[in-house]
Amino acid sequence: MHTILKLNGVSAGYGGTEIIRNVSLEVHRGEVVTIVGANGAGKTTTLRTICGIVRPTGGTIEFEGDRIDGLRSDQIVTAGVTMVPEGRQLFPYISVRDNLLMGAYKKTARATWHQRMDEVLEIFPRVRERLDQFAGSLSGGEQQMVAIARGLMSNPDLLMFDEPSLGLSPLLVSQVFAVIDQIVDMGTTVLIVEQNIVHTLRIADRGYVLENGEITMTGTGQELLDNPHIKKAYLGI
Ligand code: ATP
Repeated sequence: MHTILKLNGVSAGYGGTEIIRNVSLEVHRGEVVTIVGANGAGKTTTLRTICGIVRPTGGTIEFEGDRIDGLRSDQIVTAGVTMVPEGRQLFPYISVRDNLLMGAYKKTARATWHQRMDEVLEIFPRVRERLDQFAGSLSGGEQQMVAIARGLMSNPDLLMFDEPSLGLSPLLVSQVFAVIDQIVDMGTTVLIVEQNIVHTLRIADRGYVLENGEITMTGTGQELLDNPHIKKAYLGI
């Protein structure tokens, strides 16, 4: 078991307000790990802290054994960690191709972007058909696929997803999760934050429950699905 990401007692927030407290978690190579929790629990803040957008006020973050807390976001991407942000955050008035290119800004990725784009588009045939369109002209589901494809362009070791199913119809949600499965099969490790708990826990090897900024529970995806507290608090059963 090889630990790729390790958070040890991480606290972080905005302007003096602490949002996450003493968060410790591990992701092993090849795993799908999820952080589940209610609205406002601090899931997005946790991902933003890992990728250097929010500075931790306490604790340490290690990637492949090296401290990454304190690095800039671009240095963290170069180290091998990329995030597919909530709400996709594409550039609407440039082409899909150029949006994908933005994901390949790290030097090594830039040299081989042509080949990488070909590999990535294997997973997204519909995106390939739309490379010359403005990204903003695509449907919500197609935009989510572009956002995921952009995340893959840097060839990350760890790809983090923030609410990838948000705002999508049930069919598209299934497609997004099928794509995540393919990405895992390709050897990428995945950390996924979701409110769609059932779907996520089904594909996750392990999960952490985040409540009011603190980890309150951890277990395999199935253990958490079977847990009475989870059933009551998150599934209404
Ligand atoms: P959701 O599922 O609704 O996205 P979440 O678990 O991802 O929720 P966060 O987005 O991490 O939660 O937000 C946690 C808290 O941090 C919320 O109370 C939110 O209002 C606050 N917050 C988020 N971003 C900022 C910001 N840029 N400045 C100040 N407070 C923020």
